[in-house]
Amino acid sequence: SSKVIIIGSGIAGIAAAIRLAVKGYAVQVFEANSYPGGKLSEFTQDGFRFDAGPSLFTMPKYVDELFQLAGKNPRDYFNYQKLDSVCNYFYEDDTRLQAHADVGQFVEELSAKTGVDEKAVYKHQQNSARIYNITNHVFLERSLHRLSTYLRWDTLKSILRLPQIDAMRSLHTANQSFFKDKRMLQFFDRYATYNGSNPYQAPATLNVIPYFEQHFGAYFPEGGMYSIVSSLVKLAEELRVQFVYNTKVDEIVVKGGKAEGVRSKDTFFPADMVISNMDVWPTYKQLLAKYPELHRNKILQQERSSSALIFYWGINKQFPQLDLHNIFFSADYKAEFDAIWKQKIISADPTVYLNISSKLKSDDAPAGCENWFVMINVPANIGQNWDMLIAEARGNILKKLSRLLGEDVASLITSEGILDPRSIESRTSSYQGSLYGTSSNNQFAAFMRHANRSSKIGNLYFCGGSVHPGGGIPLCLLSAKIVSDWIE
Ligand code: FAD
Repeated sequence: SSKVIIIGSGIAGIAAAIRLAVKGYAVQVFEANSYPGGKLSEFTQDGFRFDAGPSLFTMPKYVDELFQLAGKNPRDYFNYQKLDSVCNYFYEDDTRLQAHADVGQFVEELSAKTGVDEKAVYKHQQNSARIYNITNHVFLERSLHRLSTYLRWDTLKSILRLPQIDAMRSLHTANQSFFKDKRMLQFFDRYATYNGSNPYQAPATLNVIPYFEQHFGAYFPEGGMYSIVSSLVKLAEELRVQFVYNTKVDEIVVKGGKAEGVRSKDTFFPADMVISNMDVWPTYKQLLAKYPELHRNKILQQERSSSALIFYWGINKQFPQLDLHNIFFSADYKAEFDAIWKQKIISADPTVYLNISSKLKSDDAPAGCENWFVMINVPANIGQNWDMLIAEARGNILKKLSRLLGEDVASLITSEGILDPRSIESRTSSYQGSLYGTSSNNQFAAFMRHANRSSKIGNLYFCGGSVHPGGGIPLCLLSAKIVSDWIE
């Protein structure tokens, strides 16, 4: 059978491996780290377990689909529950919001707490649904770089409806046409950060994002986020996918316009096809460094998405007012994004995201304790003085959480780990430590992501968060599907 080499065992690389193994290909996955999953990884520290990267799980059907393709029952491998309450929101003016999964309850809550007209919220939701219906089949589930996509009737219909996807104004400007209340604007503007973008610049098309969370729901995997990876790796191994860990690929070997295989140190591994699941930037700059004529310079110069600073805190107390997902908003959202995108520093009052998996998976923390994953959005790494910025941010975050929770949080920390743009970059080869590849701050961003196949090397493919259709677990899984469909 034909042999496929996949570079990287990120979620998209694993998904591509499963899809191709099901089709009968012999698949080998090379991974630089000693573990699979890339950004989606876990670790334990002083009796606490933490999911290191992603914490919000949406569109579980894209994971289930992989088990079903292999003729397996997903529930024999992996289970998850739907959240009744998606997130708790805390505002500096002491407003508290609970985002219920039930739409009626959710709208009632927003209206009761902020005085917003319920009709405006429903209108916003209809707008999100419309954008989803236009963009889903064409922009997310298919390649934008294959003629066959454009020969389809649903594509043509979507193209005719393109003006309705609201790409010509910013997310913030569009949201202002629905809401006057500052808290409501902040609530809906925040969705731009789900793909590492700036709501004051990114197109209003990103109003599709709340639709994923509110319409399809938010979920929690019973074994924690990392069980997505471990169960898929188990399936892949059953399908005879071979994972080769601690093996960094140094070069994609190209001859006569074809990828012949990969080289790691002095060893050459031949293949009929190569799929890069690593960030597209180092794929070109490092693995294809010998072939500058192949580089897609315009694509490689695009602005990167934002990065993150995360504190993993073991907390010696339980907080009943907190849930799995919690947001503590900044007082001045514009100033926060100006700091990230213009000054490229961390705002003195950042919006804090607090995830506590021990709320649903109690063995993630010792009795009476909680595992706090405390994350703020920060700029991509361009050589800032991170040690200084992190020390300042730590103090500001502690002050904010202590004020809003009425408790001296610093004194409750019994264990600490830190992830910052530098370590994200060194652990996953993500250029500048960005979480989601390129930013969506430009109205053409969706069209400018790298294609899922090289235009110059016919048997070289790309999947993962830095290529079409974009970052985040659901889109990464779709990129693997597009690659697999294309290889057919
Ligand atoms: P990656 O995870 O980027 O993995 C690439 C792999 O390739 C790595 O394992 C790396 O070691 C390997 N590699 C790189 N170079 C080489 C080489 N030369 N040779 C061999 N191997 C190599 N998404 C969500 O959906 N929900 C969230 O809540 C969410 N939150 C996030 C929070 C954080 C802190 C981070 C970092 C990301 C978050 N994301 C979230 C984004 C999500 O994690 C990513 O979009 C997704 O996991 C990326 O998967 P990927 O397939 O692109 O591969």
